[in-house]
Amino acid sequence: MDKTEILIIGSGPAGLKASLSAAGQGAEVTLVERDPFLGGQLVKQTHMFFGSKEHYASERGYKIAENLSREVKEHPGIRVLCDTTALGYYEDGIVSLESGGRFTVIKPQALIIATGAQENTLMFPNCDLPGIYGAGAVQTLMNVHGILPGKRVAMIGAGNIGVIVSYQLLQAGVEVPAIIEAQPRIGAYHVHASRVRRMGIPIYTSHTVLTAHGRESLEKVTISQIGPDWQPVAGTEKELAVDVLCISVGLTPLTELLFQAGCSMAYIPELGGHISVRSDTLETTVPNIFVCGDVGGIEEASSAMVEGSIAGLSAALNLGFGVDSYAGKLAAARRELDDLRRGPVGEKIRSGLERLSSFREVAQ
Ligand SMILES: Cc1cc2nc3c(=O)[nH]c(=O)nc-3n(C[C@H](O)[C@H](O)[C@H](O)COP(=O)(O)OP(=O)(O)OC[C@H]3O[C@@H](n4cnc5c(N)ncnc54)[C@H](O)[C@@H]3O)c2cc1C
Repeated sequence: MDKTEILIIGSGPAGLKASLSAAGQGAEVTLVERDPFLGGQLVKQTHMFFGSKEHYASERGYKIAENLSREVKEHPGIRVLCDTTALGYYEDGIVSLESGGRFTVIKPQALIIATGAQENTLMFPNCDLPGIYGAGAVQTLMNVHGILPGKRVAMIGAGNIGVIVSYQLLQAGVEVPAIIEAQPRIGAYHVHASRVRRMGIPIYTSHTVLTAHGRESLEKVTISQIGPDWQPVAGTEKELAVDVLCISVGLTPLTELLFQAGCSMAYIPELGGHISVRSDTLETTVPNIFVCGDVGGIEEASSAMVEGSIAGLSAALNLGFGVDSYAGKLAAARRELDDLRRGPVGEKIRSGLERLSSFREVAQ
């Protein structure tokens, strides 16, 4: 059976940073990624990052992925297994892997789960017509494979992802007749929302999609205003002729492996749903299993990277690596996380984490 000191599942910003920090302390790391390339969501992000310079502001996501991936691949302490999916976690601490139809098992001394999140979707009549996509799929088609999803795309969701993907569609020459948002307010940062509005895209708040229409594929959608009771307001229906409907209504952490491992879980809506209860060093209630990034609560790439560093340092420490440098490095990373979560932008995250801390007391 294959063995490793630290197994890291998922190579988004969280998993990449976790690998570098654990290996930097001297631990031997195996990083598994189901995609053929490293980088997770970053690979699709052609826009410049927001935030501060220390957190890669003004750099493009795919460039950040390129740089971190190069560092990981060149590090002698990190073994990279792409095209490899972690399928299951077993009671004896064994993880099963699949690659190219071949099944293997690996036993790590410590495990870091950095599997990210999956997109939420919506149910409405004909929601399974070809032409109805998640925003992540549209980004993958355009920015990874260079394929336009269609000619006229309506976007559901005016959070950062919906607004950024709408802008990227415009840049690619696609028409975007409207962004439709159920909440009475736009969730995206103003800088992004103002940009798409300046380019002539209306953002209909307090609106939703009622029905999709089409025979072989999507031809149009009916949208309508919704009242404070979230019910459609009769007489406000509009039809939009579109060949693509792009749905961007949030993400849910990919927690299957955490459930399988028996980690205590808590339902925290502010952080995207069920997430694992964990300590300040991101260790779950199962000793030597750590969590970082979106799988531990939907946030951003910048915080995913800092969490990755904390999980990597802490997993290495549990195995006896980096004892002298740990406290200083951990304190610096915690300060960075606090800075990222400060102010109105971090309000939702702070409230979710506060709620999570009450579950922590119960689990102890
Ligand atoms: C359109 C858009 C714009 C964004 N803009 C910004 C921005 O400007 N600034 C910012 O800070 N953040 C931004 N974000 C958010 C950011 O991309 C995410 O918060 C971040 O990627 C989360 O990192 P992660 O490592 O936790 O997960 P991910 O990046 O999702 O990576 C998880 C990885 O795990 C792999 N994986 C999952 N399950 C398995 C398994 N069982 N076996 C093997 N591999 C597995 C996946 O293939 C994936 O590569 C944006 C997101 C989107 C969608």
